[in-house]
Amino acid sequence: MISLLRKPKGTYDLFNEPLKEFKALKSHLETLLERYGYQEIKTPIFEQSEVFHREGELSDMVQKETYNFKDKGDRSLTLRPEGTAGVIRAYIENKMYTNALVKLYYFGPYFRYERPQKGRFRQFYQVGMEAIGEKSPLLDAEIISLSYQIINSLGLKDVTIYLNSLGDRKAQMNYKDTLKAYFTPYKDELCGDCQRRITENPLRILDCKIDQNKKFVKNAPISRAFLNAEDLKYYHHLKEYLTAMNVSFKEDDKLVRGLDYYTQTVFEIKADIEGFGAHNVLGGGGHYENLVSDLGGPQRSGTGVAFGIERLLEALKLAEISLAKEEIIDVYLIQMTEKAALKALEVITSLRKENFTVYFDYYQRSFRAQLKEALTLKARYLIIIGEDELANNYFTLKNTKTEKQEKVTLEKMIRTIRKDDNTQK
Ligand code: AMP
Repeated sequence: MISLLRKPKGTYDLFNEPLKEFKALKSHLETLLERYGYQEIKTPIFEQSEVFHREGELSDMVQKETYNFKDKGDRSLTLRPEGTAGVIRAYIENKMYTNALVKLYYFGPYFRYERPQKGRFRQFYQVGMEAIGEKSPLLDAEIISLSYQIINSLGLKDVTIYLNSLGDRKAQMNYKDTLKAYFTPYKDELCGDCQRRITENPLRILDCKIDQNKKFVKNAPISRAFLNAEDLKYYHHLKEYLTAMNVSFKEDDKLVRGLDYYTQTVFEIKADIEGFGAHNVLGGGGHYENLVSDLGGPQRSGTGVAFGIERLLEALKLAEISLAKEEIIDVYLIQMTEKAALKALEVITSLRKENFTVYFDYYQRSFRAQLKEALTLKARYLIIIGEDELANNYFTLKNTKTEKQEKVTLEKMIRTIRKDDNTQK
């Protein structure tokens, strides 16, 4: 006999109330983003591996956490671990760069082979936005203010935007070399991962959960000391724009991001909500000066952000904010005799055709049981079909709020239910 099958580690099933909240959040975000002039883009869940595995992309996420496989045609494919690279591949392939500015958003599942923990999954959802055009701090201001807007529109408090600049690739190389030299004497005091990071990716030592609070890590050189004059000015303008747009933020000297394609601006949105746990980064993003050209496109700059949907949902839950509207059930049909089944099906079909939400009891339980369920579901109307209704060809319709009960035909029933439809829905 087959043993009990379980979902893959790090995944989850979504149904009932949590799914309602998920759908309501998705719809809230879509409405907001479309109002801000963002167009949705849906890209494949898997891409040619090179879309993510590019030269110079040494991040742990891409190097160690991707799901890679070969299809039957021997093509190397990768399940997308993040949204930006696939969107930029599509931007280039569909020649969207002929527009001066392109604003796109995406929503969907992403896959990373990470150690599952609270707030960290192997399949998780993200919503992300990209503004792509000429290099300008205005692109960053656009995306960061939008991120701020998302948090505010959800009613979340105790959330902070942290900002930093990593400079261009040259600045980052110099910074990395300096960090390598700085951390080498402390090697034995670093965790196993960070010992490896000294040579491979010393920036990530700065945001290592284990090491980041050690004194020598806190005292490490900061990236902004390596910025060229142009990027310093860029960073300065960005801060000015954000202030002008009333977006509050904090600077964080040690902020680096998990991906290597960011240049200049990086930022993170963190929740300081009690009970949230260690993985409290709701979203993060930054500017990418070279990604479009690295993927074979023209010289374009972009700025993007991605929020983790599970983390937004958790933040909403802890803040006791529900976005899901209560489902309104228009009618509960009670059938009191087995003979009423055919009539009941007829009525239900007609009502559903009129777009009413109709429930009924498939098992013909007792009147009391059916009534109890109808009241629990807060159905607006009850329709009762019993011996007398069948014999005399009418239906009993009862408004559960006013308790008014009347004998009606099907047409009258539809008119009555529809009449106060707008006032109730
Ligand atoms: P990143 O693409 O790493 O910048 O991630 C953007 C956001 O996605 C993070 O701030 C998290 O909210 C969310 N996220 C990233 N990885 C995971 C994961 N493994 N499980 C759940 N959420 C994640």
